[in-house]
Amino acid sequence: MSYRIEAATKEEWAERALSGEKKLAELILIRSKLNTFTMFNAVKEIIWHLTCASCKGWFTFATMEDKYCIERTTFHCPHCGKKGRADTLEVDTTK
Ligand SMILES: [Zn+2]
Repeated sequence: MSYRIEAATKEEWAERALSGEKKLAELILIRSKLNTFTMFNAVKEIIWHLTCASCKGWFTFATMEDKYCIERTTFHCPHCGKKGRADTLEVDTTK
């Protein structure tokens, strides 16, 4: 769209300014919608890392439950086949 520059009255200039402001407001709205558009849906998953006390092999167990009680679950080691419960260890995250 182009504007005539010549021979514009005060009213025409006012109308053009309002039209420009409206378009700017529309562009800002479109941009804000683009900024809030999300490409992905995400859900939190917790992955427990288990190390077998017998063979030292490790495997993982994933859950979506934040408060899953890993100590109450019996696991079979996929490496040596031994069966047992898990005990949690605190990991030093300051290192
Ligand atoms: Zn094992």
